Amino acid sequence: MENITSFLIYPSQFDLITQKKKLYLHHIMVIALQVLFVLVLIILLILFVFRISRTRKTNHLPENYSELLTEYVKFYRQLDVRGKEMFDKRVEHFLSAVKITGVNAIVEDIDRLLIAAGAIIPVYSITDWQYINLHEVLVYPGSFNMDFDQEGTDRNIAGMVGTGALQNVMILTKWQLRQGFINNNDTHNTAIHEFAHLIDKMDGTMDGVPEIILERKYVSQWKQMMETTIEQMKNYGSDIDMYGATNTVEFFAVISEYFFEQPGLLKANHPMLYEMLERIYKISG
Ligand SMILES: [Zn+2]
Repeated sequence: MENITSFLIYPSQFDLITQKKKLYLHHIMVIALQVLFVLVLIILLILFVFRISRTRKTNHLPENYSELLTEYVKFYRQLDVRGKEMFDKRVEHFLSAVKITGVNAIVEDIDRLLIAAGAIIPVYSITDWQYINLHEVLVYPGSFNMDFDQEGTDRNIAGMVGTGALQNVMILTKWQLRQGFINNNDTHNTAIHEFAHLIDKMDGTMDGVPEIILERKYVSQWKQMMETTIEQMKNYGSDIDMYGATNTVEFFAVISEYFFEQPGLLKANHPMLYEMLERIYKISG
């Protein structure tokens, strides 16, 4: 009987050991798989982050940005090599901070670059400038009709700086944006006009006095100069776009376009205005 019992016990003990071995192996395999899973996850995460940062870097400036800027932006063409490098960096930074969205319009590389150029040209000499009051630029195909707050609308609705629900939003039309840069023989540039409004708005009020960059001692002189010129424009006409005579807000934007588009002509025709704009935009004459 004892024999039979021992005979019965042996196989079951053997089974137990095999079972234990199997369990042990299974356990090891589970741990190995877990480690492998975590490793794969880490690798994927690294690749993902790397890919994102790489796309970010290349997305903001198209490969041929330098040729495009040279071809279309007179201000850029006139810069030296170091100046161009600085301009490129500022453009890249602007495009990384501000979203540009087409509304029934395809936004091409050239449009993105021209918007950034319009933003950077007026503040080029103010190296630490940031458009903290701008998050998005909406690009419309041509002139547009909207039920937006009348305060926000602008000349033939070629562009506007948003108010109310459109706070921190700028609207530009693709056609006017391009014309502003293609045509160098006039004093118009819609993008510069709208960015001048944003610069004016930065101190909290849009009044034609960009107090954030204009030294306090010149404020009353500048106000006086704007009012006098507007009166002269209304009475005698002017080579300054008559839209500037609407009010001091539009005067500042219109005269800024003139200053950056035809500086030589403004200096010759309106030396006092030119001198004040040099002060405002920190251009050393
Ligand atoms: Zn305006």
